[in-house]
Amino acid sequence: SNKDGGGGGVFSVGKSKAKIFDKDGPIQVTFKDVAGLSEAKTEIEEIVEFLKNPQRYTDLGGKIPKGALLVGPPGTGKTLLAKAVAGEANVPFFSMSGSDFVEMFVGVGASRVRDLFRQAKEKAPCIVFIDEIDAVGRARGRNPNMGANDERENTLNQLLTEMDGFGSNSGVIILAATNRADILDKALMRAGRFDRQIYVDLPDLNDRVAIFNVHLRKIKTDDSLDVELLARQTPGFSGADIANVCNEAALIAARHNKHCVQKQDFNDAVDRIIGGLEKRSKITTDEEKHAIAIHEAGHATISWHLRYASPLIKVTIVPRGKALGAAWYLPEERQITPSEALLDEMCSTLGGRAAEELFLGRISTGAANDLERVTKLAYAMVAYYGMSDKLPNLCYYDSSGQDYGFSKPYSEERAKNIDAEVSRIINEQYERAKEILRQHASGHAELANVLITREVIYTEDVEHIFGKRPWVSRTDEIFASRQIAEGDKAEPEDVKHDEPAAVEPDKQPDADNADQASDSGENDNKPLPPTMPPVPKK
Ligand code: ADP
Repeated sequence: SNKDGGGGGVFSVGKSKAKIFDKDGPIQVTFKDVAGLSEAKTEIEEIVEFLKNPQRYTDLGGKIPKGALLVGPPGTGKTLLAKAVAGEANVPFFSMSGSDFVEMFVGVGASRVRDLFRQAKEKAPCIVFIDEIDAVGRARGRNPNMGANDERENTLNQLLTEMDGFGSNSGVIILAATNRADILDKALMRAGRFDRQIYVDLPDLNDRVAIFNVHLRKIKTDDSLDVELLARQTPGFSGADIANVCNEAALIAARHNKHCVQKQDFNDAVDRIIGGLEKRSKITTDEEKHAIAIHEAGHATISWHLRYASPLIKVTIVPRGKALGAAWYLPEERQITPSEALLDEMCSTLGGRAAEELFLGRISTGAANDLERVTKLAYAMVAYYGMSDKLPNLCYYDSSGQDYGFSKPYSEERAKNIDAEVSRIINEQYERAKEILRQHASGHAELANVLITREVIYTEDVEHIFGKRPWVSRTDEIFASRQIAEGDKAEPEDVKHDEPAAVEPDKQPDADNADQASDSGENDNKPLPPTMPPVPKK
């Protein structure tokens, strides 16, 4: 993150502070300098292709994207990645921070935006990088008090105007970075603006080894150094923190007049940086790590054993954003979701808290996000989908989009019934979750241990512990049903006894590409079923 904007003074007030980084030749950063982040790199490689070879896309009538949003915690390499795009494509790189736009005098922000884009268009093809976009891009009108936000809004409006103004084939690609995508104005994310979001996360163990290796290239070390051990000692460190460790270690060695940087220098550097990080919070202690592992292994164990729960792809206990652990599941494509699927989903979502209660004997705030999702889902089942026996076939959702305002469309009595049903459903699923965990306690413990040592587990690890899931995924099922002749469709044999009665899935002809991962972390709610209406204000 570059904050040393160029010369100022009152006279250059309206001038963009964007700097051209290729003044002394092209940007030298390439993908080789960016360690880990393989998913983000794959996504962003496409932008490099656009820049190198625009014709190939436009000849076919394709539209080149105008912008992408890089989302992730500070120091994870967003700026680095944006620079690498410019370096790989060999185009100029303009960079500015959102906070620079709104810095000083009224009216300056908008004119800076105009100026930045004028410069960029002259140099196209090029990359414009806007760091801390949330400084300008926060949702408008949320804070109606006074005109304090006018300046920011003007700047944002100008930015939107500029983005809409240039053709998508002008060769200017805007990359913006933020760690708070959730607070951004939705207008920014609309098609033709930042319509792609690329997630950049804190590195896991393997990625930390890779990042250490990138930064150790420049440092003279001796054989005593154990990179893997260093990576193990630095959970929760960002790429920037690791770069810092390497630099600090070199300084410590120099202070001791050494000729190379040794293991002990690195250990001292790690200690020093942890000291700084602890103040910033977020470093997980062993005890916390254990608790997170128990929680995440709870989700994983249960989803493995439920017919309709989404199959797991990856679970990690590396802190991510505000979330402490995270799990990825492959949501199966469904147009219609049977109530059993909602209950299974609820049960596995409650699995984290259930595991805490069962295996740690105490519960924590770590499940707040899970509980929110479960509560919304249960409320939707009762009040929107008419799935409760006590209140069958009722839907209090108004698809006309009109808000009921403060009055509820039902009586106080009914409200109590709804609340009672919501509680009952959630309690039942919580008890079910605990029961499944009791049955598979040793597997769960094994899973949690693997998580603690390796920080991340994949489908294969879970399969290794619990065995194959007795059900084919619905996606496979659809695929198979196309190949197997009607009538002799094989039923999986070893069906778990506690599963709800199987519902014949409706056949969907085009449901075979469900490869988007979903993050059960704090920032990104698992998508609700497609028919799920928003929950109205109560
Ligand atoms: P962000 O923009 O996400 O806040 P930066 O890109 O500014 O983070 O990262 C700061 C520095 O940290 C980089 O210049 C680089 O030295 C180091 N760094 C961060 N992530 C990585 C990574 N994935 N690989 C190598 N170095 C990294």
